[in-house]
Amino acid sequence: MRLSWDQFFMAQSHLIANRSTCTRLAVGATIVRDRRIIAAGYNGSISGGVHCSDEGCYVIDGHCVRTIHAEMNAILQCAKFGVPTQGSEIYVTHFPCLQCCKAIIQSGVTKVYYANDYKNHPYAIELFESAKVETIHVPYENPLDDLYAQDKLSFIAELLSELEAKQVDQDQLKAHYERAQELFTKR
Ligand SMILES: [Zn+2]
Ligand SMILES: [Zn+2]
Repeated sequence: MRLSWDQFFMAQSHLIANRSTCTRLAVGATIVRDRRIIAAGYNGSISGGVHCSDEGCYVIDGHCVRTIHAEMNAILQCAKFGVPTQGSEIYVTHFPCLQCCKAIIQSGVTKVYYANDYKNHPYAIELFESAKVETIHVPYENPLDDLYAQDKLSFIAELLSELEAKQVDQDQLKAHYERAQELFTKR
């Protein structure tokens, strides 16, 4: 099965979200032009700043103010290196907040693909609509998810209990159990 472009770019956003340093929510964003990735970002502190993951979040009015959002970071990366964002598209793990919504519109992005709804602000929805920026829900399917993990696990459990019934060496059996456990809990 060939990965679709939407899933590929969405995977990229989910991958970079793992770089997030804010413990409240890990967000990733990828800006794409003509099916090429031109920038990517995650929510984190300014370069060289302290991280929420080390010092705790800096919360004011229920929001962590320490971090720059993923979308902003991706757009600012384009600004820093002089890459045009006009006519680009953005893939985000979560529906953009109001501030990012405005930055996305203002930087000329024409489409927003998002994997998860996240407090979708009615004014953000309204602004996207009036700016003719399309918002498209693309649920993310992790290509690394093993669809048959459960079947494999129960098969191995069955084999091990058969071995146990045959009274094989206990230490060896224990080692097999531990190995199976390790394989199926590894991420
Ligand atoms: Zn934080
Ligand atoms: Zn935001």
